Amino acid sequence: MNYYVTTAIPYVNAKPHIGHALEFVQGDTIARYQRMLGNDVCLLSGGDENAIKNVQAAEAAGKPIQTFIDENTNAFYKLTQELNCLFTVWQKSSDRVHHYPSSQKLWNLCAEQGDIYKSVYEGLYCVGCEAFYTNDELTETGECPEHPGKPLHHIKEENYFFRLSRYQKEIVRRLESNEIRIIPESRKHEIMHFLEKGLTDISISRSNARAKHWGIPVPGDPTQRMYVWFDALNVYQSGIGFGWNDEMYNTWWPADVHVIGKGISKFHAIYWPAFLLSANLPLPKAIFIHGYFTVNGQKMSKTLGNIIDPFDLIARYGVDPLRYYFLREIPAYSDGNFSETRLKELYNADLANELGNLISRTATLAEGLTFEPVTTMNNHTHEPFFTAMNAFRFHEALSYIWSIIKEQNSYINHESPWNKHGQERQKILVPVIQSIQEISKLLEPFFPNTATIIQRQFASPSIVRSGILFPRLR
Ligand SMILES: [Zn+2]
Repeated sequence: MNYYVTTAIPYVNAKPHIGHALEFVQGDTIARYQRMLGNDVCLLSGGDENAIKNVQAAEAAGKPIQTFIDENTNAFYKLTQELNCLFTVWQKSSDRVHHYPSSQKLWNLCAEQGDIYKSVYEGLYCVGCEAFYTNDELTETGECPEHPGKPLHHIKEENYFFRLSRYQKEIVRRLESNEIRIIPESRKHEIMHFLEKGLTDISISRSNARAKHWGIPVPGDPTQRMYVWFDALNVYQSGIGFGWNDEMYNTWWPADVHVIGKGISKFHAIYWPAFLLSANLPLPKAIFIHGYFTVNGQKMSKTLGNIIDPFDLIARYGVDPLRYYFLREIPAYSDGNFSETRLKELYNADLANELGNLISRTATLAEGLTFEPVTTMNNHTHEPFFTAMNAFRFHEALSYIWSIIKEQNSYINHESPWNKHGQERQKILVPVIQSIQEISKLLEPFFPNTATIIQRQFASPSIVRSGILFPRLR
């Protein structure tokens, strides 16, 4: 089977922070899990490069837009590599070869259905979100809920509009029936609540003046550029061939899951399905919405100066401990607090003490003994793991794996194999080794490097001791 998973494509007006790192790791873990199940997997991300805020940031940095964008997008790509995330496709939205024509095709398909018309728009615009806001969507102090403190711009101009209102009923139906599954359920309720208020048509273009001549030209009207969300969402299609390689597109589309942050759920669960319905294209099967990182209980923001650099964390703790921390500590369905103290605690307790200890003492005790090759893993035995993974509940899957690790450590303590020799010791260790082999398999989606090291060490028939997996931190 084919499995297509995407992460959101980050705005590249600034360097990546740990929120991006979390999402890349979640996407990669889903992809690796699907590969483990034997599926062919495509994992996509890229750069959201046509936003006005990119242009503004480039101006502030005194650099040509494309240069600025390429530099920043590369930093995001470099982060995925340092995090050991295997992206199949990295689609830039400033790509004129594939992405531009692909997005113009989507536009034309919507226009052919009579869903695009010209009108005057007047409203408040948040450049941070690249979105218009109505007064009832703003905070009590009249600010953008995602960007408190940032000024909203009053804009009045002639734009192209998309008939979003036409798709209200159909989207409600598709969400209610779970044809598009929203995970978790609490986010689905928020979206349904938003839909109850009724949908109004949205502006999907902006004048060249406001776009500063940046972005994808509207087909047939060189005075207007596409609204950035219209083309950004289409990256999920343009990256896999929409408009330029039908065979590839049909292989992967529709997406099995879009992994996104809670701040952009409206665009993914409402706008995106509406564009696709209009264009008569299949809809994504699921949208997994994760929470945000807070730092000491506060939202991460440039204004607060509490942005954590993921490169720095990787350099100091290593990639697997960081992946572990993200997936174990941050509940997949809600916000999680980032704390370096907690990262160290988890590292020492779970990685050094539990996993590291199990591996190193078993290898030491088993060295020189021979073991039968272990039969293939019985998935049925590890049902809690698979149930959790199928629901993107990474922390529960890890918690299950660690329950086995703890069980094996207590078993060793109880049986004291160090007091036994030869066959007697071997008999005690056989179930431990089998268990380690299974654990190393289950760890693959989370811990690709560590899993491979363990698998090499415990490849029957002979077990080899090697260095310490996770040296204790002080
Ligand atoms: Zn905003």
